[in-house]
Amino acid sequence: MTALSYVSDEADSAWATYLAQVERVLPYLGDLTRWADTLRHPKRALIVDIPLEMDDGSVRHFEGYRVQHNLSRGPGKGGVRFHPDVTLEEVMALSAWMTIKSAVLNLPFGGAKGGVRVDPRELSIKELERLTRRYTSEIGNIIGPQQDIPAPDVGTNAQVMAWMMDTYSMNVGATTTGVVTGKPVHLGGSLGRVKATGRGVFVTGMAAAQRIGLEVKACRVAVQGFGNVGSVSAELFYQRGAKIVAIQDHSGSLYREEGIDIPALLTWQREHGSIAGFTQAENIRHEAFWLKSFDILIPAALEGQITEARASALSCKLVLEGANGPTLPAADDILRKRQITVVPDVICNAGGVTVSYFEWVQDFSSFFWTEEEINQRLDSIMNDALIAVWNKAESLNVTLRTAAYAVACERILMARKDRGLYP
Ligand code: GLU
Repeated sequence: MTALSYVSDEADSAWATYLAQVERVLPYLGDLTRWADTLRHPKRALIVDIPLEMDDGSVRHFEGYRVQHNLSRGPGKGGVRFHPDVTLEEVMALSAWMTIKSAVLNLPFGGAKGGVRVDPRELSIKELERLTRRYTSEIGNIIGPQQDIPAPDVGTNAQVMAWMMDTYSMNVGATTTGVVTGKPVHLGGSLGRVKATGRGVFVTGMAAAQRIGLEVKACRVAVQGFGNVGSVSAELFYQRGAKIVAIQDHSGSLYREEGIDIPALLTWQREHGSIAGFTQAENIRHEAFWLKSFDILIPAALEGQITEARASALSCKLVLEGANGPTLPAADDILRKRQITVVPDVICNAGGVTVSYFEWVQDFSSFFWTEEEINQRLDSIMNDALIAVWNKAESLNVTLRTAAYAVACERILMARKDRGLYP
């Protein structure tokens, strides 16, 4: 294996985590191993410069990326992240996880991801719009409804998708709703898309809990991240009767032994922008969050959160990865030894891209489904995928993550093999 010249040798980077995950599945790929190097090489990576005129008249430049990791099974698919720490390597890893995710769910997509190194909270709404439009124009020659379909991720939302759709449409001269997913419902978006990722975490979490004999009603749950994924998962577990005892976001950490009132916290967050200052729970230190005792942990923030030290100290039975790449490979080994079940990101948080797929299909056919239909189809796809991965894990005697990679990589590499190399 030759290392890519444009990748650092940082051991805990998201790309290094992804490579270690691929390494673990190789023994189970048989003859397909011949093609495995394709997984270690992003097919295409575009770096763009985004000059932005600020409201005060100054001009600032931002770094943007779009990476298409693999297109063997269909067009690229994956979100766009606006975050000040975004790097090319991070976007590469996120795009690779999209390749695996689409394949585990058997969606007809490859994997892609985009990002801009910016703190969207520091921009005015007009600056954000200009940044989004220029970024979209800069990546415009590699995206498209049949080529690569962006969607929301950390720091982006339905409004950003509407601007992306409009900019692409203006550039090609025709309204092209299918170029992005996660759009507002009145602009070709899909019902159920906003809550889909959190719903998927809940659905796979319920199924996994049942498998390992956990009664969710009696469970204590901790959630890291209270954005689109964390807040919806917390709400669904709360509605099912579980106690959400700990919540952490970028602004602080909350704990309440008797369970946090989630509807009250959601209202607080809507009014104040974060969980900081919420008085109906105790404020705890950042690291104390990881040391509390609970049954289910939902990391729903950024990568690399479950380190070796935290994995050794954690007291829980089930981890539901709402975030992409929250667990470092060495921590994965510790969790396995400690018999803590991990439902990996590539299946646990795949509800979002699954409803994105529904949105894309609806846009093409210009025929829209009811929310009930969407949720039913989502639940059944996610449950079936989890059963397939669980059975694979039992038959190979590996973790759910390696089993998910086995299911996915077989599909990706079969496609690679049968398509052959061009020229
Ligand atoms: N950003 C989401 C993810 O990481 C959704 C991607 C999509 O809908 O294409 O899965």
